[in-house]
Amino acid sequence: MRVGIDLGGTKIEIIALDQQGQSILRQRIDTPQGDYQATIQAITALIKQAEKSLGQQGSVGIATPGAISMATGRLKNSNSVCLNDQPIKQDLEAALRRELRLSNDANCFALSEAVDGAAAGSQNVFGVILGTGVGGGIVINGQVLEGANAIAGEWGHNPLPWPQTDELPGEQCYCGQHGCIETFLSGPALVRDYVVKTPSESVNRVQQICTLAEQGEAAAQAALSIYAERLAKALAQIINIIDPEVIVLGGGLSNITMLYDTVPQLWTQWVFSDQVNTKLLPPVHGDSSGVRGAAWLWK
Ligand SMILES: [Zn+2]
Repeated sequence: MRVGIDLGGTKIEIIALDQQGQSILRQRIDTPQGDYQATIQAITALIKQAEKSLGQQGSVGIATPGAISMATGRLKNSNSVCLNDQPIKQDLEAALRRELRLSNDANCFALSEAVDGAAAGSQNVFGVILGTGVGGGIVINGQVLEGANAIAGEWGHNPLPWPQTDELPGEQCYCGQHGCIETFLSGPALVRDYVVKTPSESVNRVQQICTLAEQGEAAAQAALSIYAERLAKALAQIINIIDPEVIVLGGGLSNITMLYDTVPQLWTQWVFSDQVNTKLLPPVHGDSSGVRGAAWLWK
């Protein structure tokens, strides 16, 4: 049995998969807010209860925000800031008395879709998270590529490639740079772009922009159209570097269905190839991908 945990800012989710990869247990609890010790205790209790009710012990993988620092062995880059600089892997291993595997939530998303999701059967997969933030993960031959700095696939803090003059220098990003891909492709960025052009509309959600675009509103259609073009540029750069067979979109903005037709038509302009075979696909497991991928960290 494989157990996966998805540690999120608001929820902690657990899944248990049997040997065939079928879900035999699933549960969600609220994440203790701003309390590291309580978070460790909550994860430990979830796993122990699940194993007791199923009558067996499993391998455990954990999807975390951020990544384990190669320098310190502690968590870094987490937007749940109480977890940063904490020895989360060591503390959970001590509590559960076994070796664990941890990986970034975007990596777990990519792994889940590569194992038995949208990219099943592909050897080279890029998984993209388009949500409050922008992240990515690379899976090669069914294994997460962690990288020498544990940041493989973190394209959200590269600059937007092939920018228009009015896209320079770009918004200030929390990472310290200007014009990061995340400042163009996150959900808040799309809403900001729309609101700047139509200050009279009270729009604060991506879904509202999609609905307005479907109703034929020009400003909403324009915002989605420039969004698709920026995504095409950002993904063309990924294709030029790792040349994946499949790119799977995840996160809230992966629900924008027009992206799957429009972006592959646009990216041919920037991909260095006469023909682009890479497929752009929606996720199969949706919100479950993080927790499923965590379980699949043990193959
Ligand atoms: Zn940045």
